[in-house]
Amino acid sequence: MADYIIAIDQGTTSSRAIIFDKKGSIVATGQKEHEQILPKAGWVEHDAAEIWRNVQEVIGLALGRADLTRHDIAAVGITNQRETAVVWDKKTGKPAYNAIVWQDTRTQDIVDRLAADGGVERFKPVVGLPLATYFSGTKIAWILENVEGAREKAEAGDLIFGTTDSWVLWNLTGGADGGVHVTDVTNASRTMFMDLETLEWRDDILEAFGVPRSMMPEIRSSSEVYGTAESSSLLRETPIAGILGDQQAATFGQAAFQTGESKNTYGTGCFLIFNTGEEIVHSKNGLLTTVGYKLGDGPTHYALEGSIAVTGSLIQWLRDQLGIISSAPEVEKLAEQVEDNGGVYIVPAFSGLFAPYWRSDARGAIVGLTRYANKNHIARAALEAVAFQTRDVLDAVNADAGVDLTELKVDGGMVANDALMQFQADVLGVPVVRPVVAETTALGAAYAAGLAVGFWNGLDDLSANWQEDKRWEPSMEDAERDRQLRLWRKAVTKSMDWVD
Ligand code: ADP
Repeated sequence: MADYIIAIDQGTTSSRAIIFDKKGSIVATGQKEHEQILPKAGWVEHDAAEIWRNVQEVIGLALGRADLTRHDIAAVGITNQRETAVVWDKKTGKPAYNAIVWQDTRTQDIVDRLAADGGVERFKPVVGLPLATYFSGTKIAWILENVEGAREKAEAGDLIFGTTDSWVLWNLTGGADGGVHVTDVTNASRTMFMDLETLEWRDDILEAFGVPRSMMPEIRSSSEVYGTAESSSLLRETPIAGILGDQQAATFGQAAFQTGESKNTYGTGCFLIFNTGEEIVHSKNGLLTTVGYKLGDGPTHYALEGSIAVTGSLIQWLRDQLGIISSAPEVEKLAEQVEDNGGVYIVPAFSGLFAPYWRSDARGAIVGLTRYANKNHIARAALEAVAFQTRDVLDAVNADAGVDLTELKVDGGMVANDALMQFQADVLGVPVVRPVVAETTALGAAYAAGLAVGFWNGLDDLSANWQEDKRWEPSMEDAERDRQLRLWRKAVTKSMDWVD
């Protein structure tokens, strides 16, 4: 058998292709950013055609850098930004509209309309999610309601929907010329349309949203052969054998397979996932219930999730909108030039507040400003906001689980930031642990694909690959932690009830 697996990580800011060997080590990477299209306040779009071009390009980059061909690749795994909705014409392969990104809040009116009859939790017992602009369902409805001719084409069966896993898979397997229209259970669990127990689309919910069932991809497990790459692809005839939404992929890549295991990923947003095993646990504390993974015909593993919309993107905002840093890593240098936050707290509620608050009426706030405050304090407050938001989510996880987590496994682009990780350990009061392979998202997708084709034999093989790289121990006094948390929570209240 070929010696490598390639994972395609179709992320919010970029697409990557990463080649892994049997030990789960990275052999080569290709990466390309795509444009963030911001037509109005609260709107975030991607050009799906650009994404597909980039995916093809990064596959070539990774293969070239490793000096490998398709014959060396045993299988392809896909992981993706979840909830981002692509609607396209299955006859032409052309998107009907730009992809509407998970952070986009334009569908608030649709949320309000649906919530008027039964409240925001009306579908939560079935799908595990509250009504919110975040999930893909309202984004599909928006396209059908606002793009000229879309509804007619959808009802005629020509327009189909997918999150970017489905978009990439459909194109990779032949597009208009026989592409397979499939998604996995983890991505399906983020639409608002999938019944968590039966793992099938719910006709009554699709109807409430006005979305024809014919648009929806077939729901399959996270680890099985969905199809093979088409003949013009660099990966032709290679099986595509794993799909996991990015956060579930990171959990899988962290080898958090067992009930009670968890991870927190620090990227554009932050996502803490807590594995609840085969049990569907409904949160009483503002967490989502979601599918963790399902391998072939195996049992479904569920999870609780705390999603935070704005973490890494707050650092991007400092760079792009305020211009106080010229690159993301610079935030650490700026923050380290002051001893503390100078009393400044930032609540980055740019898209409202997600877990555990779910307040779409919140907007960003910077509070505690005095004449003394400078850009260093702002930089520090931005990093601290990431850690405080994670603390709020961890409290919710502990309350729902009834036991306290004793350490937190972390990954994602921001875990390179030492100051942030130390502060995170300090405000949590538990150690924070980073694995050697911090690209756990791509690794998880590679694992799912490799398991399906027998490249790895089972979960034990994968657990054996996990290795600790660095551990941050909490060193803050309890009284100081309490004081800071008190101020943070006061700041959070200031961001709420802002939208007129
Ligand atoms: P995603 O997969 O969501 O696109 P990544 O995991 O690649 O995100 O992480 C990128 C994010 O991390 C960006 O939002 C960037 O601002 C932030 N980031 C990257 N390096 C650092 C750093 N050293 N300190 C703080 N933030 C960082």
